[in-house]
Amino acid sequence: MNKILLATRNQGKKREMEQLLQDLPLEIITLADIEDLPEIIEDGTTFAENASKKAGQTAAASGYVCLADDSGLVVDALGGRPGIYSARFAGEEADDGKNNEKLLSLLENVEEEKRQARFVCAIAVSDPQGIIRVVTGVCEGMIAMEGKGTGGFGYDPLFIPLGSSRSFAQLSPEEKNAISHRAQALKKARKLLEELFP
Ligand code: IMP
Repeated sequence: MNKILLATRNQGKKREMEQLLQDLPLEIITLADIEDLPEIIEDGTTFAENASKKAGQTAAASGYVCLADDSGLVVDALGGRPGIYSARFAGEEADDGKNNEKLLSLLENVEEEKRQARFVCAIAVSDPQGIIRVVTGVCEGMIAMEGKGTGGFGYDPLFIPLGSSRSFAQLSPEEKNAISHRAQALKKARKLLEELFP
């Protein structure tokens, strides 16, 4: 069976991607299955640029077709922050709890109607020769006044998707995967993979 390498060390993302790609005739391997891959510096200025860098460099170094994502939360009231810096919003030593705390405190005086935000996910698929294709998914919503729920990862307790009264962290994995930015991007990425591995 053909193999595809998922270039992520984030367990939350890995779980979601495996779930969404599981019925493809591909064996999914991850960075944990491969030794000596170079550290990739995410110094792009957009989600698409960072995803392309990760996928391209990992495919070239490993010899496998590689799928990489770059994602984050874009908050209107903060001029688009944390954006591509979502993972390290509260500093280099940040964790999900500290990032969520910082987000809530920056939005302390922002009323409910002005808390619009969206999750964005860019997914790049690269072959070892360096042909890279990128797709994007977006999920609109708002930032809650306080964290709710224990599921998911990252900013999930604070993100209420449009049309819902529950946070991403209160949805089941299946409910989140039906609407999330990553799921929408992965649906498009599946089409690319079906073309690459007919
Ligand atoms: P990346 O690993 O550079 O793509 O960082 C993505 C960061 O954005 C994660 O560490 C989370 O903080 C946030 N993020 C991306 N997708 C999600 C999601 O589905 N739920 C919650 N947080 C997310």
